[in-house]
Amino acid sequence: VTANGNLLEARDVVMQFGGLKALNKVQLDIAKGTVHGLIGPNGSGKSTLMNVLTGIYKPTEGEIEFNGKIISGSAPSSIAGEGIARTFQNVQLFGEMTAIENVLVGLHHTYRSNTLDVIFHTRRCLKEKREARIRAASLLQFVGLADLANEEARNLPYGKQRLLEIARALGLNPSLLLLDEPAAGLTAPDIKELVGMIQKIRDHGITVILIEHHMDVVMSISDTVSVLDFGQKIAEGKPAEVQSDTKVIEAYLGG
Ligand code: ADP
Ligand code: MG
Repeated sequence: VTANGNLLEARDVVMQFGGLKALNKVQLDIAKGTVHGLIGPNGSGKSTLMNVLTGIYKPTEGEIEFNGKIISGSAPSSIAGEGIARTFQNVQLFGEMTAIENVLVGLHHTYRSNTLDVIFHTRRCLKEKREARIRAASLLQFVGLADLANEEARNLPYGKQRLLEIARALGLNPSLLLLDEPAAGLTAPDIKELVGMIQKIRDHGITVILIEHHMDVVMSISDTVSVLDFGQKIAEGKPAEVQSDTKVIEAYLGG
C-alpha cells in the first residue's frame, strides 16, 4: 500500500491525445478491499483512465502508485504481473477456443516451464499443465461456468461471455480488478448474477474499480464513487453523496 494506506493512487494524471486532454489532472485514491465506482458521461475519460492504469497508455503527466510501487511508465505485462487485471468494454475472448482454453491462456504466465520443457514434455511441464487445468476449472466454477467449460466461447450467451472474461482476469491472481462496463448489454437476471459475482470477488479481498452506466448497479455495490466529466474528476464520495451532488446531476443532464 501507499504511504496513505491506499492500494492505488493516481496523482495529477494527464492524458493528452493531440489537442484533447482526455484526462486532466485526475487524482484517484483507492482503498484496499473496496469497490470503487467510476462514472461519467460518454467520452468523459473512464476507459482512458483504465488504459492508463493498466499501462496501455503512458500518462502525459502525473504518476500512478500501486502497492507501494510507481507503475506509470511500465509495460502492460509488467503491470499485470504486479497484480492489476482487467476486462474490456467490448468482450475480448478467443471465440473459437473453449471456455476453459480461454482461461488457460490467461494462466500460462504463472507457470515456469520454458520452451525446452514444453518441447520435450518434461515432467515439470506435464505437472504444470495438469495444475493449470485444475486451476482453470476452479476459476470457471467460481464464476458459475463449470458446466460450460468445453463450449466454444462464441457459442456462450453474452452474459456468460462477460463472466468468462472475469474468470480469465482472475487467473492473474490480481489484487486489483478493473471492470469496464461489465453490465453493458446484459439482461436483468444476468446483471443480478454479475452484481453477486462482484460482491463475491470483493469478499475474497480483491479490490475492484467498476466503470458502469447502470446507476443502480454502481450505487448499490460501490463503497465509493468518482465522477469524471470532460477528463476531470468533478465529484467523489459515498454513493448517496455523489448522487445528490449538483455538479454530477448537471454533468449528466448537460451530457
Ligand atoms: P469513456 O470511456 O468515459 O466513454 P474514453 O476514455 O473512451 O471515454 O474517451 C475519452 C475521450 O478521449 C474521448 O473524447 C475519446 O474520443 C478520446 N480518446 C480515447 N482514446 C483515444 C485515442 N487513442 N486517441 C485519441 N482520442 C482518444
Ligand atoms: Mg468507455
